[in-house]
Amino acid sequence: MEKAKAHCSFCGVEQGFDLPLIAGEEGHICEECVRLAAQVVGNWGRKRAAARPLKNLLKPLEIKEQLDQYVIGQELAKETLAVAVYNHYKRISIENDHPTLQATGDHVEVEKSNILLLGPSGVGKTLLASTLARTVGVPFVIADATTLTQAGYVGEDVESILSRLIDAADGNKDLAEWGIVYIDEIDKLARAAESAHGARDVSGEGVQQALLKLVEGATVKLKGNKEQGGDQSIDTRNILFVAGGAFAGLEKTLERRLHTRVQGIGFHADFSNPEQTYEACRVFEQVQPDDLRQFGLIPEFIGRFPIITALHDLDEQGLVHILTQPRNALVKQYQRLFEYEGVELQFTDEALLAIARKALDRGTGARGLRGVMEGLLRKTMFDMPSREGVKECLVDEESVSDGKAVEMH
Ligand code: ADP
Repeated sequence: MEKAKAHCSFCGVEQGFDLPLIAGEEGHICEECVRLAAQVVGNWGRKRAAARPLKNLLKPLEIKEQLDQYVIGQELAKETLAVAVYNHYKRISIENDHPTLQATGDHVEVEKSNILLLGPSGVGKTLLASTLARTVGVPFVIADATTLTQAGYVGEDVESILSRLIDAADGNKDLAEWGIVYIDEIDKLARAAESAHGARDVSGEGVQQALLKLVEGATVKLKGNKEQGGDQSIDTRNILFVAGGAFAGLEKTLERRLHTRVQGIGFHADFSNPEQTYEACRVFEQVQPDDLRQFGLIPEFIGRFPIITALHDLDEQGLVHILTQPRNALVKQYQRLFEYEGVELQFTDEALLAIARKALDRGTGARGLRGVMEGLLRKTMFDMPSREGVKECLVDEESVSDGKAVEMH
């Protein structure tokens, strides 16, 4: 007697030569149903991933408090970012909970609020973006605009940012779709023609165009190797893009614009020395999209970054705070290192000021601090572990300014 053909226990389709079934303890399943089930389970993953950052969505004030623990000063930028990030994740959490909202006639579409950070090098732009991602609990990647190229050229193509974001989410694509991407040195993509400072590579505009696709929210296909599960696509609609740049020379455009406007209404201030009239960094707070267009960013690109905020240059006192106050402040880090040897490391106030002054001279913002500290403590860190009975090291101003050996007691 012919054996009865097996059926898929889910859809009932009959097993056949070109329709194999997977047998279980009590039933069978066909390929089509496996796919469907995978899709459903995938959606569970998405819901879980979504729920994670959004369940305990912090209020703007709480986000700012978290930022305060790591980033010194930059109050305006911190507040702006806290609000933008809160609104961003609020929007997706509501859209996620009420997917039908979009279908109703009176639905107001809240657009994505990508953020542009203007400010000199080493003042905390990257630090802000990364602290933000950690606060919200979403994956984060940093891309350097100067290494990006359009697909097909040598260099990192724009899509690879998204592959890295998936890696940062441990391969969880759904979680990656809520991530934050920081694009550094965005000003280097400025187009030549109207740029305030000389020749510029034309490929910059091409990369702006390529980035535009990602930033405005699209489903992007990514090439993947077999281990990563082959090609995949990622939806960038909910990925928050933060772009940062020093925009050197932009202040001239701004001063020109502000100057004309103020004169135009008959205000007789003396603008002959713009350096005195405007602090270069404060002037960045007045940036309008049109200034960025004149700088060389394309209008479509600027349009996708509706939130623009400025970071200030750090002064001596700011650098001293950075040395001592953040949770992982440099001074605390070195003190911990010395503690491992049973030695207490102390700095006088004057020494801290002198370190800040030295770092300022390097002109790389807070980035210079580590180099100064390394140079200052290198000899001590070399000698100390071999010396018996050292309990305390004191760094004073002369050690910083005149190279006097750090006192060990
Ligand atoms: P950029 O503005 O060029 O992106 P970063 O954020 O990379 O600068 O800053 C470089 C380093 O300097 C950071 O890792 C951090 O240690 C320190 N730093 C810069 N600005 C601040 C700040 N406002 N508060 C605390 N640390 C800062």
